[in-house]
Amino acid sequence: MRVLMLALVMLFLPVLAQASSCELSIDSTDQMRYSKAELTVPSDCETVTLTLNHTGSLPKTTMGHNWVLVETDQLSALAKDAMAAGPANNYVPSDDERVLAATELVGGGESTSVEFSVADLKDKDLSFFCSFPGHFALMKGKFIIE
Ligand code: ZN
Repeated sequence: MRVLMLALVMLFLPVLAQASSCELSIDSTDQMRYSKAELTVPSDCETVTLTLNHTGSLPKTTMGHNWVLVETDQLSALAKDAMAAGPANNYVPSDDERVLAATELVGGGESTSVEFSVADLKDKDLSFFCSFPGHFALMKGKFIIE
């Protein structure tokens, strides 16, 4: 019985390892910062789950954060349009194909997550940023699939 259990554990371990490496988390703060400047996922992930935690205490109306995935050369233009989209849209333009993935906007003490496919993103130069007005200059980083 013990041998059988061990065999089962060894069978399922690789599956568990793969699943967890496709799950990312990043913190954000009242100091307008992300906890990481780079996020990496293995290229064999089909979908990625990103969890954004706001570890501060300020409300989302003054220090809101989200996590938006975009091709790096489109970041500045998208950040500008995101500002124009306004708080009613969580500062994310709707039906905009440049938005590859986006979380909701959160305030202090809140968390949110988004699940997205990386199947079509593997050869692209990707970045993530917070689209709250004025935040992307400090709140951005590289998203790497390797
Ligand atoms: Zn922000």
